[in-house]
Formats: sequence, structure tokens, C-alpha cells
Amino acid sequence: MLNIDGDVGEGGGQIVRSSLALAMCLDRPFRITRIRARRERPGLQAQHLAAVSAAASVSQAHVEGAYKGSQELLFKPRKVIAGDYHFAIGTAGSTSLVLQTVLPALILADRESNLLLEGGTHNPLAPPFDFLKHAFLPLLNRMGPAVTATLERPGFAPEGGGRVRVHIKPVAHLQALELPERGDIVQQRAEVLLAHLPEHIANRELAVIRDALSFPESKLNFRVDNTANGPGNAVSIIVESAFVTECFTAFGQRRLPAERVAESVVREVRRYLQAGVPVGRYLADQLLLPLALAGEGMFVTLQPSSHVITNMAVVKKFMQAEFASEKIDEDAWRISLS
Ligand code: AMP
Repeated sequence: MLNIDGDVGEGGGQIVRSSLALAMCLDRPFRITRIRARRERPGLQAQHLAAVSAAASVSQAHVEGAYKGSQELLFKPRKVIAGDYHFAIGTAGSTSLVLQTVLPALILADRESNLLLEGGTHNPLAPPFDFLKHAFLPLLNRMGPAVTATLERPGFAPEGGGRVRVHIKPVAHLQALELPERGDIVQQRAEVLLAHLPEHIANRELAVIRDALSFPESKLNFRVDNTANGPGNAVSIIVESAFVTECFTAFGQRRLPAERVAESVVREVRRYLQAGVPVGRYLADQLLLPLALAGEGMFVTLQPSSHVITNMAVVKKFMQAEFASEKIDEDAWRISLS
């Protein structure tokens, strides 16, 4: 039995999700202790339990310790069954974090799957739907599978109620992904999503982006979607280059002026552009599991975040594969499987 210390590295939900994902793919049971031991509310919370329960249904797993506040979990997958699944995460729990958990197993399954995920689609501290659609899934698809995600209804914290459908056409083996450079920039654009909030918010955000990044009017778009259960505002900037597309998102918050929201996403884009790397910090931690499962691959990214370091450590626990990271420039690191 593989024993995982949940308190290493980033010490959060990611160790749990990545362990579940790898256990399902590799058919390796594991026990994890000290789950979120240093967090204000330690142990498994609703968001993590949703991931455990989704992973358990997809892999017919035997599970012990899956309750709120639990700092220890035993997970024994039996068999991954692809097919149709409905995961209702409850309130604004992130749909993408649940998807992140079950996707690796389903892209390597023996038949297609259709997922309906209900919960939050635009949560701070989780991959926003736009990021999945524009940045993560196109790269994953380059490795062989065909995964499409459709946003039927946005869900913002705290009301949630969003709905995402995902269709997954698997492959027997993932192909390696190599992203040494970004290539020339093809286009950049901004997309503001607004629900149950006045339009001047979007206009002020787009004005900040126009002034800071010199985008022409045709690249400044906003969309109102009042099908969301409650108010919400997401500002995304999509940077499409010859070899990769990145997507950076910030969220509107009560009492945070719209200008500050737009400025935070502009800062991220500037850092990415200045570094000249193809892979931004969030994409970096999310590409590690697919790369490890492919057995080869490399990318150049910003200085590794604690999430990157943690995922590397989890991969090393489950597999022979080990990632190496090497600083190649001021703010550029080369991450490769050795
Ligand atoms: P954790 O902090 O353990 O819950 O993990 C959060 C996950 O969400 C990581 O995989 C991050 O890369 C991802 N994430 C957080 N914020 C963003 C963002 N703005 N864009 C894309 N991914 C994100």
C-alpha cells in the first residue's frame, strides 16, 4: 500500500486530487494521512469530498475515511468504468477541480464518456471554465484524446448552480507534449463575463485592459449571462501564440473596484509576456500528470509554484517517472521528465 503524506509541499487539496487521479490511472491503492493538516479548517472539506466521491464512482473504489474534517483517507480503485456521469458538486464547489480528478483516468479508458458537472464554473483558486476551454484542453487534446467542454450555465461563488458538459474520447496511450517555446503571438483578446451586475463594470475593466495592453476595440469583448444563479464577474485575457494558447482570469469581488480586478489580470499577462515562456504558472501544475502518464515530455514555464513542486512529488511517489526542473533564464524554467 502506498502511503502519502498529505502535509508535504503545498499541503492542500491538490495532493488528494492528484493522488486520486494517479491511483485510478495506475490501479494503485493508497492511504493519505495529515490531509490539509495546517489549514484553518483541516481535513477533507466539501470540495475534496466531491472529488473523492467522483473518483470512487468512476473507478468503483473502496473508500475509507471520506467524511468532513477527515485527515486520513484510504482509496482502493477496482476498475475504471467510462460512460455517463452526473456530478452535482453542491453550491459553488468547483466543477473543474472534480474534472481535474477524473479526467486522467477517463482519457485513458476503453470507451467514451459524457460528464455533466454542476456547481461553480468560475471559482477563485480553481481553474476557471475559460482556462480549461482555451488553454488546458487544447494542449491535452494534442496528446491524443478529444475532450470538449461546453459551458451551459456559469456558476459563481457563493450561489453556484453552474453547469458544464464534457465529452471525452479516450486514447490507448498519450503522446508526449513538448513546449520549449511560445512562438510569435498570433492574437490577444479580453473577454469579460457578467451576471446580474451593471454593465459599467465590464466597460471599466475593458478600459483598463485597453489602456494597459493597447488592445484594439475589436479584441475587447463582454458577455452578459443572467442564467447564473447569482451575481458574478470574470475577466479573462487570452494570449494565443504560434505553439500555445494561455488564458488568465481574475474575478470580481464585492467591494473590490472593477479597475483592481482588471489590473490583477493585466499584471499576470505582463509577467507571462515578459518571461517569454509558453506555459504560465497554473498550466504548469496541470500539465504534469498528463506528461507523467505519457511517459515523456517537457515544457518551459515561470518559476515553479508550490503546486508544481507538489505535483512533481506526488508523481514520483506513484510512478518511476521523475521530473527535473532547471532554471534557464531570469524567469524561465525547463521542466522535463527524466
Ligand atoms: P488547490 O490550491 O490545491 O485547491 O489547487 C488549485 C488548482 O487550481 C491548481 O491546479 C491551480 O493550477 C488551479 N488554479 C487556480 N487558479 C487558477 C487560475 N486562475 N487559472 C487556472 N488554474 C487555476
